[in-house]
Formats: sequence, structure tokens, C-alpha cells
Amino acid sequence: MAYDLVIIGAGPAGITAAVYAARKKIDFIVITGNIGGQAAWSGDIENYTGYQFITGPELASKFEEHIKRYAVPVREAEEVTAIEKGAGLIRVRTAKGQYESKTVIIASGKISKELGVPGEKEFKNKGLTYCATCDGPLFAGKDVAVIGGGNSALDAAIQLMKIAKKVYIINNLPELGGDRVMREKAESSPAVTVINNARVMAIKGGRMVSAITVKTAGGEKEIPLEGVFVEIGLVPNSGFAGIVDRNERGEIKINSRNETSVPGIFAAGDVTDVPEKQIIVAAGEGSKATLSAFKYLSRIR
Ligand SMILES: Cc1cc2nc3c(=O)[nH]c(=O)nc-3n(C[C@H](O)[C@H](O)[C@H](O)COP(=O)(O)OP(=O)(O)OC[C@H]3O[C@@H](n4cnc5c(N)ncnc54)[C@H](O)[C@@H]3O)c2cc1C
Repeated sequence: MAYDLVIIGAGPAGITAAVYAARKKIDFIVITGNIGGQAAWSGDIENYTGYQFITGPELASKFEEHIKRYAVPVREAEEVTAIEKGAGLIRVRTAKGQYESKTVIIASGKISKELGVPGEKEFKNKGLTYCATCDGPLFAGKDVAVIGGGNSALDAAIQLMKIAKKVYIINNLPELGGDRVMREKAESSPAVTVINNARVMAIKGGRMVSAITVKTAGGEKEIPLEGVFVEIGLVPNSGFAGIVDRNERGEIKINSRNETSVPGIFAAGDVTDVPEKQIIVAAGEGSKATLSAFKYLSRIR
């Protein structure tokens, strides 16, 4: 049996696409790694209309409540590995099976970039993490480092400075980037030490992380600590979407109707080449993608 629509991802873009699909009574499913996406990782959200302040996990649970209200069929913890197009139908492959559909919306967002230094793989989830919101509370009263110098790093440092004993920000540029208001919050905390022009060379430890090696103009030094939060940016989750045109950053190219280079395949949110990577933008793009898919379905019926 073929679906009318398969939505890949359940971050702000995929969830909004799903709410619109349910309200249009489209026969669809959502296939996703998790519910909430990056929105669930963010600390304080102060720019989603209707909420003057909400935390990332709270907003993610509001999203989940919203799709439950429409009994959206969600296949969670299922990763899409490939998309193929035959004569007419589109096939979506996952590690668990395959699904055929007349249309697809790719809303698979972005994922954290890795540092690529010795010890990173070994200590993943053993003191090294990519999500301050999820794992920050495990480091109460401990010394930690945030690697990075942009908004994601600052968001992590601001969350951690309320929990950890000491927070080093290891930034490879001469000064911190990101929004001024966030920089000021982080830099004014006595718990935070910023080390600019610094590169992390290795993550060290035994069973768990116990230090990082950092290189500055003054040479290499070891900083003893128990937690490392890698916040050096994000890459699009588009590896499975080689069927559609992507730009040099791997983002899926779309037009103003969320159409990709392949008829019937639409995309929305951070995985696309829409330059603004924000929750409200992703949500709006998700709604547009479903409305375009709905029009496409009406045309091919
Ligand atoms: C730390 C941090 C703080 C932020 N703070 C803010 C803020 O305050 N305000 C703001 O507006 N924005 C903020 N953002 C940005 C915002 O979270 C993103 O722009 C938004 O979440 C993008 O939504 P999305 O649905 O496109 O993708 P994502 O949120 O990345 O969701 C992608 C979804 O796709 C799923 N997925 C990925 N690959 C696959 C696959 N192969 N198969 C199946 N499913 C897959 C994932 O499980 C996930 O559910 C923040 C981001 C970060 C990282």
C-alpha cells in the first residue's frame, strides 16, 4: 500500500508539516529519529511567537502534545537511509523496512559537527557530549569545557554556568561570536573562563573524560575536567537524500514552494538552503511544504 505522504523528521518543520497533513486528512506517516529535534536541545527560547519564554524541552513536549491531538502515526527511533524514485512512486528506505509514497517531505534538520580529534569517539557519552540541555545536569558541581564560540556554544555555556563548578569556553577564533546579549551573559559569569585562539588537540581519560589538551600561542597544555560539550556547528542530515539537488554545504535546494529538484519530493527547515535556521522559520516552512504536497496530490489524482 502506498501512502500519499511520508514526512521524514519530527523537529519543528516535520511536526508542523504533520499537523497540517492531519488537518488536510492526507494519508501519511512520520518517520523520525526523535520528536523535537534540535528544538529539544535548546536552553531558553525567547523568540517563538506566543511564548515570551519557554525551554527547549518544554516546547518539544508541546509539539508532541499537538501531534498526539491529531493521532499522527509516528515511527520513532527509525532512521531513513535512502530515498529512491521509480515510475511514479517514491520509495523511502529505513534500517527497519521500506515505505512507498506519492509524495515525501524531507524535514531531517541538522546534526552536530564532530571535532575530529583523538579521544572524541572513545569518550562519546563518557563525559563527552553534543547536548548541554540533555546532559548538563549530569555535570553538577564539576569542571567542564564547551568547545566552540558561536551561539550554540554560548547557549551551552549559559546553561552550564548555573550547574557546573567551572566552565571553560575553548574558542579557536580571537574573540567570541554569537549574539551580544548571550556573549555578555556568559562573559559576566564568575564560573566562565574564555580561552580564545585555542584548539582542542585531544580528549583524555580512563573510563571517563579526565582532561583535554589545548593548544594556544603559548604551547600545549592539559586542562583537568570531567565534561566536554562539543558545540562547533551543525551539518545537514541529508546524506540519505542524494536523489535531490543539494548545495556545497549539503543543504537541499528548494524553491519558494518547498519543491526540490525531484517532483513529489519537498523539503523544509534546517536541512534546506533557506538561510535562516530558526524554530519559527522551520515550522513555517513545514506548513508550506505540506500545503505544496497537498496541491501536488490534487494534481496527480
Ligand atoms: C543549542 C541550540 C539552541 C537553539 N536555540 C534556538 C532558539 O532559541 N530559537 C530558535 O528559533 N532556534 C533555535 N535553535 C535552532 C532551531 O532549533 C532549529 O532551527 C530548528 O530546530 C530546526 O528545525 P527542523 O525541524 O528543521 O530540524 P531539527 O530540529 O534538526 O529536527 C530534525 C528531525 O529529523 C529527524 N531526523 C534526522 N535525520 C533523520 C533520518 N535519517 N531519518 C529519520 N529522521 C531523521 C531528527 O530525529 C529530528 O526529529 C537552536 C538550535 C540549537 C542547536
